[in-house]
Amino acid sequence: MNCHAAHEIAADILETGTVIVGAGAAGLTLADALPGEVTVVEGGGPRVDARIQTTNWSHVSGEKMNPDAVRVHAIGGATTRWTGRCVELDDYDFEDRPWVAQSGWPIGKGELAPFYDRAWSSLGFTLQDGMKLPGLPMAPAEPCEMPPLRECCWWFNGRKANRQQNFANRYRQIFAKPSRRLIYAASATGFVVEGSRVVGVRIVDRAGRAKLIRARNVVIAAGCIDNIKLLLLQHRATPGFLAPVEDWLGRGFMQHLRVRGGPLIQEPAEFQALQRQFNIFFGPGRGRHERGLALDPAYARAERLGNASIFFEYASGRSRFAPSRAVNAVPRMLGRQVVLPQGRAMLFADVEQEVCRESRVTLHDSLGPGGIPRADVEWKITANDYRTAEAVIARTGTLLGSLGFGQLSMPAGISASSIEPAFITDSNHPLGGTRMSEDPSDGVVDRNCRVHGTDNLFVVGGSVFSTGGHANPTLTIVALAHRLADHLIGRAPAPLVAEVASTADKPVFKRR
Ligand SMILES: Cc1cc2nc3c(=O)[nH]c(=O)nc-3n(C[C@H](O)[C@H](O)[C@H](O)COP(=O)(O)OP(=O)(O)OC[C@H]3O[C@@H](n4cnc5c(N)ncnc54)[C@H](O)[C@@H]3O)c2cc1C
Repeated sequence: MNCHAAHEIAADILETGTVIVGAGAAGLTLADALPGEVTVVEGGGPRVDARIQTTNWSHVSGEKMNPDAVRVHAIGGATTRWTGRCVELDDYDFEDRPWVAQSGWPIGKGELAPFYDRAWSSLGFTLQDGMKLPGLPMAPAEPCEMPPLRECCWWFNGRKANRQQNFANRYRQIFAKPSRRLIYAASATGFVVEGSRVVGVRIVDRAGRAKLIRARNVVIAAGCIDNIKLLLLQHRATPGFLAPVEDWLGRGFMQHLRVRGGPLIQEPAEFQALQRQFNIFFGPGRGRHERGLALDPAYARAERLGNASIFFEYASGRSRFAPSRAVNAVPRMLGRQVVLPQGRAMLFADVEQEVCRESRVTLHDSLGPGGIPRADVEWKITANDYRTAEAVIARTGTLLGSLGFGQLSMPAGISASSIEPAFITDSNHPLGGTRMSEDPSDGVVDRNCRVHGTDNLFVVGGSVFSTGGHANPTLTIVALAHRLADHLIGRAPAPLVAEVASTADKPVFKRR
C-alpha cells in the first residue's frame, strides 16, 4: 500500500501527474477513477484525532450553525460520520428559475445522468427497478389546481450503517496501485503558480516542515469550507491569479435549511398509519429506503418557491404498551419497519436556500494551527428561504390531515417571514462558495469544475453546487468527481514546468 505520513517522506519536493487535496468522498472517488500518477494529500490521519478536530475550529459570525461538524480531518473525511442517505438532485434543480436567485446550473441533469449511475455504484448500490422512478404525486382530498407535494425516496446502502459507506475503509485498496500515492498528516497550505497555471502544491507535515508537490493538474477536494478557505488563502498570497473570480469567491454559501415542525396531534391509529406510509423501509435487495415528501415542481413553480422535502421521525411514548428494543429487533430482522403503537411524530423540512451574496466564508483575523487564518462563516437565511420552509410545512400539515394521519398545528415560531432559531438545526450539508457558472462574473468554477481563468486548477465538492436543491449532497458530489475524472482523462497532458520557485529546501526530484 502506497500510503505514508508526510513526516516519513524524506524528499522535500515530489512530482506527480495529478495532486488531489483531501481524501474524503470526492477526493477518493477521483483518485480511484483516474489513471496515471495520482497523489492525494490529506490533512488528517487514518483515524479521527480529537486534538486536530478541536484545534481546527471556524469562527461563526452569521446565523448560528456548527460548520465544523462536517469538517472531519481524517482519511475518509466526513464519510467517517455520515448517515449514508442518498438521493439525486431533481431535474428542475438545474434549471433557471427566475424566482430563485442565481438559479440555473451551466450543466443540465442529463449531462450528470451517466455520472449519477457511476456514483450509485461507487456508493455500493446496485440500481434496481423502482429506485430511479419519480415520486408519486400526493394530492390532498380537497380540490386543488395541482398537487403541492409528491412522494420522495432516499436510499441507504445496506440494512444498517456499514463499512462500505465509510470511505476510510477503501483507501487501502485504492492505494494498492503503485501509481497512486496517499500522503496523510499533510495539510495543503497553498499553491505555486506561474501565470494562469498551478505548478505545485505546498504542504506542511505535523512537525511544521514544508514540502512541495509538483503536478500537471491540481484538484481541491477538501470539503466545502476548506475548498473555499484554500482558495481565499491563495488569493491573499497571489491576488492576480484568482482575480477573475474574486467577486464570487466565498460568496453564495448555503446549507439546507433544516426546520423542525410538529409534534403532530394524533390518535394512536393515526400515529401508526403515518408510520406505515412515511418511514424507513427495508429493500429493495439488501438496502433500505426512506419515504417522505417533496414539493411538486409544478406547484413550486406556480407559487415561486424553492425546492424542499419533508421526512419524519418517531419517538416511542413512555407507555407500558411501547415495545422493548428486543421486540423492535424482530421486525428489523425480518426486514420490516418498526411501527410504534404510541408516541410522537415530528417532521423535518430540508429547504433549498437561494444563492445570497452576503452569505459567505471569509478569512478571520484569528489564526489556527500553523498560523493559518481560521475560516469565518457568515451564514445568512433569506426571506424566500423562510417562505419556502413555511409553505412546505403548512402544505404537509394539510395533506396529513386530509389523509387521516393527524393534525399539525404550526408552531408560533414558524412563519413565512421568519423562523425562530430554536426550530432550525444544522443539516451538515455545506454548499456553495465556489459555485459553478458559465461565466466568471457569476461564479468561481466553470462547467468542468476548473477555476475560471486558470489552466489546471479544479475544485470538486459541495462548494461547486450552483444551487443546492433539497437533496443530501454526497451522491451528487461523487457524480461530479466521476465527471471531473472523465474530463481530466480527456485533457491533453500538460508538461511539468521544469523550474519551480520555491521556499522549500533544495529540490530532490523523485520519479515513480
Ligand atoms: C453527521 C453527518 C451526517 C451526514 N449525513 C449525510 C447523508 O446522510 N447524506 C449525504 O449526502 N451527506 C451526509 N453528510 C455530508 C457528507 O458527509 C459530505 O457531503 C461528504 O463527506 C463531502 O465529501 P467531500 O469529499 O466533499 O468532503 P469530506 O468528506 O469532508 O472530505 C474532505 C477531506 O479533505 C481534507 N482536508 C481539508 N482541508 C485540507 C487541507 N488543507 N489539506 C489536506 N486535506 C484537507 C479533510 O481532512 C477531509 O478528509 C453528513 C455529514 C455529517 C457530518
